[in-house]
Amino acid sequence: MIDFEIKILGSVSPFCYKNKNCVGIMIYHNNQKILLDCGNGVTRNMVIPNDLENLNIIISHLHKDHYGDLSSINYAAYVFHNYGVLKNKIKVYTPSINSVQDCINYSNYYEIKNGEICIGDLKITFYDNNSHGIESYMIKIESEDNVIVYTSDIGNTNLEDVVKYCSGANLLICESSLLITDNSKLNTHLHAYEAGLIAKRAKVSSLLLTHFWPLTDKNNYLAEAKQYFYNTDVAVENKRLILRR
Ligand SMILES: [Zn+2]
Ligand SMILES: [Zn+2]
Repeated sequence: MIDFEIKILGSVSPFCYKNKNCVGIMIYHNNQKILLDCGNGVTRNMVIPNDLENLNIIISHLHKDHYGDLSSINYAAYVFHNYGVLKNKIKVYTPSINSVQDCINYSNYYEIKNGEICIGDLKITFYDNNSHGIESYMIKIESEDNVIVYTSDIGNTNLEDVVKYCSGANLLICESSLLITDNSKLNTHLHAYEAGLIAKRAKVSSLLLTHFWPLTDKNNYLAEAKQYFYNTDVAVENKRLILRR
């Protein structure tokens, strides 16, 4: 029996390119929908208006590649509500309500901090390990049978607690912005091999890489991470994953 269905709406940063959108992951569980981040372009891969009903949007942090399409979704919800199609307001969970609120919307806003909320029978926790340069939350979604962790954007300065937070997850969706060959000294994002190392040390079941440079072949990230963790895959627009009960 299906517990979670996960659909990738976007996988790159910081700009949309051809058929690639900025980051967004739609999670279906019972009659609930949880959209983890809604970067530029993700609306193109949503099923409109169906996906707007019972929709919870969680914005991990306030970089535009993670919420650039919120206005688009809010406007769609506003119009479909006026048509009588949409019955339930969208719930938007965000680190700061004032920064993302649109005047045209059919949404309720809630502030997130380190801590937990419930959506239906799901327990959802947030944890900022202060490694991305701004307030940025890792998100853990737990049902009775599965645990999904989405790191959002994190740096490599505090990996011990990332490993601890991800420990034992069935699915780890981890940012993978950099390659060793980029020769980058940036410490507010992860390399693909670091995502692989985290997955290995946290003993997760599977690893899904995301948040790629739009012009780079995703197979490069896959190969780098697989050196440390074999059960790795890459996020691709419209790809679906299933977690069973
Ligand atoms: Zn960011
Ligand atoms: Zn980002």
